[in-house]
Amino acid sequence: MGKLLFKKLFWNGLFIANLYAIGYVWITGSVDLIRGDAADILIACGRLAGLLLQYLILVELVLVSRFKPLEQLYGFDKENALHRRIGYALVGFLFLHPLLLSWGYGIRADRSIVEQFVGFVASWEDVLPATIGTLVILVAGILSIPKIRSYLTYEVWYFGHVPMYLGVALAFGHQTASGDVAFGGAMRYWLALNAAVFGVILAYRFMVPLFKNWKHRFRVSRVVRESPDVVSVYLTGKRLRAFHFDAGQWARLIFFQRGMWHGHPFSFSAPYDGKELRFSIKALGDWTARAEELCPGTRVWLEGPLGTFTLAQGRTNKQLFIAGGIGITPILAMVRSLPHKADAFLCYAARTRTDLVFTREVAKSGVRHMYVLSGEVCGGYETGYVTLERVRYHCPDLASRDVYLCGPSAMLEALLPALRAAGVPEERLHHERFGM
Ligand SMILES: Cc1cc2nc3c(=O)[nH]c(=O)nc-3n(C[C@H](O)[C@H](O)[C@H](O)COP(=O)(O)OP(=O)(O)OC[C@H]3O[C@@H](n4cnc5c(N)ncnc54)[C@H](O)[C@@H]3O)c2cc1C
Repeated sequence: MGKLLFKKLFWNGLFIANLYAIGYVWITGSVDLIRGDAADILIACGRLAGLLLQYLILVELVLVSRFKPLEQLYGFDKENALHRRIGYALVGFLFLHPLLLSWGYGIRADRSIVEQFVGFVASWEDVLPATIGTLVILVAGILSIPKIRSYLTYEVWYFGHVPMYLGVALAFGHQTASGDVAFGGAMRYWLALNAAVFGVILAYRFMVPLFKNWKHRFRVSRVVRESPDVVSVYLTGKRLRAFHFDAGQWARLIFFQRGMWHGHPFSFSAPYDGKELRFSIKALGDWTARAEELCPGTRVWLEGPLGTFTLAQGRTNKQLFIAGGIGITPILAMVRSLPHKADAFLCYAARTRTDLVFTREVAKSGVRHMYVLSGEVCGGYETGYVTLERVRYHCPDLASRDVYLCGPSAMLEALLPALRAAGVPEERLHHERFGM
């Protein structure tokens, strides 16, 4: 059994094992309720909704904790996609838990659902902070609904999302105050599970980056203009020889310079050389448009390396790279780190020749390549968009290669299904999205 498969089975197994444990805790804790009348059953279901709610919240936290074993197995973009999907399911339990409990206890006390809920908030231990926590989580969830998020800048969305942690902390107290995990082994299991997740967050979101940034003290060494809207930012630092990353990976960077503090993800655009790190940034919005203002000497907080868009994920020793626009950055790092005379082909698309950056490095790499311009007709360059036919013309054996795609979402949405239909199996289809 491959190591990768074993690891996937292990983590999925752990997820399911905890679901069983929660089921066991609920059944043993609520056995009388489950056999009781309608009110009892509503209360039992309300308790179960609460346990599953907290469990999903813990899974959500692990998915964005940059927990290395999982990040290396699935990649941050897949973890993020799962985080979003579970987020929608989680909102359902946020309503079900208080609704079912208020309904069940309301029947018993001959009160309406609202009266009973107010009674909980007013008199049950830790239910008021839990209610505030629930509202904080709900607001962050609503801001993440794609339609609503599309009206927000990334920063507004981000600072509306981070209070989630406070919401989760506020909602914790009432869980061990009453119900199925309020005593004995069930409570110890619950505390251990929650402590484990908070331990992972503390380690991977704070301690590991703290140690790495203390060890390497990253600083901007120089900023180089590559094209009218792309600049390369070089970082230097201490003990850089000990800082390793795989070509294709990325990092989240925070530059401690006035007005530039907000963190952004960028791919390493050159392979590791132990001397400098290079990130190449296209002006796509308010922060990236100011990247050229970064001053040499500026301290940098670097979280990473992250991502699984690397040659190490490849299953063959033949590659097809398809890059669109600034999506060239991780791909160039991989192309430049290939062994000499590697059997690889690069298809690099941009709007105009001016938008094609690093053409000298591509040429120097010795990898066969073609340039496709969608907004300019020019001799020696192909005109139009990257299509399967165009790629297959230059790379007829594409189905037997590892295919790496990075570029605008529209390009990925058009090419991924076409490449699958052309016989490229999922495990040899690697892609990185620059939109989270
Ligand atoms: C894994 C990854 C690797 C990337 N590598 C590169 C690279 O090598 N070179 C490059 O030029 N760009 C890269 N990007 C894209 C880059 O992060 C965004 O263009 C940049 O964050 C835009 O910020 P802005 O404030 O200028 O634009 P805005 O106008 O604020 O946003 C433009 C778009 O970028 C997204 N975005 C904004 N801020 C962030 C953030 N902090 N985190 C995530 N997404 C954000 C927004 O959702 C929006 O879709 C990468 C993105 C990801 C996810």
